[in-house]
Amino acid sequence: MKIKTSSDYMSSLQSINPVIYYKGEKIKDVTLHPATAPHVRAAAMTYALASQAEHHDLATATSHLTGRKISRFTHVHQNVEDLLKKVKLLRILGQKTGTCFQRCVGFDGINAVYSVVYEVDEKLGTDYLERFKQWLTYIQDENLMVVGAMTDPKGDRSKNPSEQPDPDQFVRVVERRNDGIVVRGAKLHMTGAVNSHEILIMPTMAMDEKSKDYAFVGAIPVDAPGIIMVFGRQAGDDRRDKLETIDVGKPRFGSVGGEAMIIFDDVFIPNERVFLDGETEFTASIVYRFAAHHRSNYGACKTGLMDVLTGAVSYLCQIQGAAKGSHVRDKVTEMIHLSETLYSSSIACSAEGVPTESGAYMVDTMLANVCKQNVTRFHFEVARLAVDLAGGFIATLPSEHDLKSDEVGHLVKKYFTGVADIPVEERIKIGRLIEAMTGGTALVESMHGAGSPQAQRIMIFREGDLTKKVSLAKALAGIPSVKPKQEAS
Ligand code: SF4
Ligand code: FE
Repeated sequence: MKIKTSSDYMSSLQSINPVIYYKGEKIKDVTLHPATAPHVRAAAMTYALASQAEHHDLATATSHLTGRKISRFTHVHQNVEDLLKKVKLLRILGQKTGTCFQRCVGFDGINAVYSVVYEVDEKLGTDYLERFKQWLTYIQDENLMVVGAMTDPKGDRSKNPSEQPDPDQFVRVVERRNDGIVVRGAKLHMTGAVNSHEILIMPTMAMDEKSKDYAFVGAIPVDAPGIIMVFGRQAGDDRRDKLETIDVGKPRFGSVGGEAMIIFDDVFIPNERVFLDGETEFTASIVYRFAAHHRSNYGACKTGLMDVLTGAVSYLCQIQGAAKGSHVRDKVTEMIHLSETLYSSSIACSAEGVPTESGAYMVDTMLANVCKQNVTRFHFEVARLAVDLAGGFIATLPSEHDLKSDEVGHLVKKYFTGVADIPVEERIKIGRLIEAMTGGTALVESMHGAGSPQAQRIMIFREGDLTKKVSLAKALAGIPSVKPKQEAS
């Protein structure tokens, strides 16, 4: 692994030159700019853990391609143990950063593409897997961060890619040359894009026969000609951008992963970095395997965040003198119960993993969808309980400027003091942490990241095998098992 430590990672980002805009201006150095630096530090934790003896086993793996030691974030899962180690690692990272550390998107993209292109080659005699292995070996040896780029703008959602009035609403091949392809379009909501080294471009949905130009997979460095990124706004970003240390809630790490839109303004991808081109029938598998892996993650990374939130609100109750109240204990118990229940589904879909034809392991897809669906409820319920216990003061706190003011600072301190021997700053800091972790952008990410809740419900229904469940019921009720005229719906 060439990039070994978090400071190696920072230096590596300083040695590349992606084009990034934020609030109308260019960001020159993502490791230093106040808007991006917290997110860079969160991603850097994935590098830091690999060099800590305590976490080394979870954070690293042995490459099945080279036999060399690699970051787990560049690994192709070889067995159930790999799947389990991944989610254990993600929970720890969630606990340490309290936010999204971004690197799983590329990780899941690598695993989805690897297993699908194996099947493409088997069926069609193409050589995509060999190309992919070459690229992946480079990623593993250098220990690069990859952003898995999937979500297209989609334009008019009632129309397929080939029917859009503007054909660029889905990323597409606009030119095929002897030595590669030229692609145009955009990907939205790209977690960790501005601090990744490489982009792995994948189709956003199953493509029909007419949409061949949209059915491609390719990898490209983030600073390749024609790539433009626009970094998104987040709730509370002015506090972050002005380097406020208390009001930002989590001064070291951002409140969410740091998302950007990536624009592909006629970007050339050489053949050796093209891993699918026109084989529409395989696009559904890429999307679905990627989504299932990512949905399995959410039950772990978000549990890490819920652990932090539970700790924050418990401490706040202690320093406000309310911790012994039976309702407080009951609500904290509920927060823990929900967190562990969520984590259980992440463990379950990993424990029930199965090998694909390529040998790479997939999570159980039904359980992965259930896991992510649980996130959209349990994380919100834990946040609701945290806000309930924290009280209204997290919404009405004066700013840190008033706290530090010569004129009113002593009065703010006097009237926000809780238990006498605890410095008032602690109460305010923990309140701000709860505010940051229960506020707008953080929870939106939990709802829609890895696919909106409806996407999971569609798959849960599809994989629910209702026919079998109906026959189970009929058998027990003594109803003869004749073929139903109509499928249950
Ligand atoms: Fe990883 Fe979770 Fe962030 Fe997705 S939301 S990239 S799984 S930390
Ligand atoms: Fe996410």
